[in-house]
Amino acid sequence: MNKKLVGATIEHDLSKAPKTGNWRNVRPEVDKDKCTGCGTCVKYCPEAVINLRERRDDSKFKKLAKIDMDFCKGCGVCAVECPFKAIKMEKE
Ligand code: SF4
Ligand code: SF4
Repeated sequence: MNKKLVGATIEHDLSKAPKTGNWRNVRPEVDKDKCTGCGTCVKYCPEAVINLRERRDDSKFKKLAKIDMDFCKGCGVCAVECPFKAIKMEKE
């Protein structure tokens, strides 16, 4: 059977990406109390600028979405896709 290459994933290298200029007019804000650390926004962000960070909450370690605002373009995809409505787009 012939195997064909049907797709590929290219790792995004932020160190080679240009920083967002001052044209962005909205920015995502993560509500720490609503964020469950599920990682959905990480998968959907087209700029790959969201990571999960550990945080201590009520003596337990939980994960929280952390957005690199130097590179975020303010597209709002993360806010739409978050299943817990933990991201709101706010004016800059
Ligand atoms: S999708 Fe929402 S709940 Fe999940 S990690 Fe992102 S901000 Fe947190
Ligand atoms: S607004 Fe767009 S670029 Fe910024 S973190 Fe959300 S999905 Fe990524």
